[in-house]
Amino acid sequence: MTARIIDGKAIGEAIRQEVALGVEQRLAAGKTRPGLATVLVGENPASQVYVKSKQKACAEVGIESFGFELSKDARQNEVEKLVRELNADPKVNGILVQLPLPSGFDEERVLSAISIEKDVDGFHPLNIGRLAQKGRDPLFVPCTPAGVMYMLEKEIPSLEGMNAVVLGRSNIVGMPVALLLVRANATVTICHSRTRDLASVVRTADILVAAVGKPEMVRGDWVKPGAVVIDVGINHVDDATKPRGYRLVGDVCFEEVSQVAQAITPVPGGVGPLTIAMLLKNTLHAANLRD
Ligand code: NDP
Repeated sequence: MTARIIDGKAIGEAIRQEVALGVEQRLAAGKTRPGLATVLVGENPASQVYVKSKQKACAEVGIESFGFELSKDARQNEVEKLVRELNADPKVNGILVQLPLPSGFDEERVLSAISIEKDVDGFHPLNIGRLAQKGRDPLFVPCTPAGVMYMLEKEIPSLEGMNAVVLGRSNIVGMPVALLLVRANATVTICHSRTRDLASVVRTADILVAAVGKPEMVRGDWVKPGAVVIDVGINHVDDATKPRGYRLVGDVCFEEVSQVAQAITPVPGGVGPLTIAMLLKNTLHAANLRD
């Protein structure tokens, strides 16, 4: 079997166009332009790149972005004060505090300070708590997990009763993905660094979501023929043949697994483009919640 390649770029682009249309419709109806505030603390180069690309994506769909940068020596209270000011600012519909915060900051306190109506990253403990509870709905779902589910729901008409295996239990990817899969009535197994005989557990998966950060860890013979595989991992591996001296690979060995799976996401060009698309979608949703 040669797997169908799930084209994250095309799916992400379609979502961006939907958001751009939604923004236009708001403006045509005399409503405000949606606004996203980004808060960057410190000078982590990867975080700087992420924040820039989020601001650029906002501009492309007509969302206004407001960038705030604080030094890594800022005090916890300063970050929380900024968040409270943004909570009160009517031009700001969504607040994104770029994670990770530099060491020494209490991330949970900062995230808890964000008004849940503006929690477009979906990491407020109340939104995550609601995600975990039956009969409760979060106002926002974290962006990468939302992107994973969007792809799965496009690929598979109903996830009900399917065996899903999630590799990884982080707060930002693995755990929220697992919670979303449970809400979609899949039967979910969560694996982590202490899981025994990982390959055997992975082999039970009709749906496999890999989010471990280990280059090409999942091999072809770990995967059940016909499974749908979503590879969240983004790993740099040395490659002297590339101009930058490295290439990006996922947590799944694409070459082997694409011979076994029914469908698979590539890296790059799979889950990545959905993360920012979902942030834009959440920001439009935040604006629509208000008026
Ligand atoms: P974390 O490092 O926070 O979590 C990794 C998880 O994988 C942990 O739960 C860990 O287990 C588990 N794990 C680590 N090693 C193994 C192993 N050998 N066997 C089984 N489980 C293992 O990573 P993130 O969740 O933040 O990110 C995961 C990957 O996804 C990374 O490559 C990251 O770059 C990528 N990513 C991609 C995004 C996108 O937009 N496409 C967005 C966010 C992340 P334990 O809990 O026991 O330590």
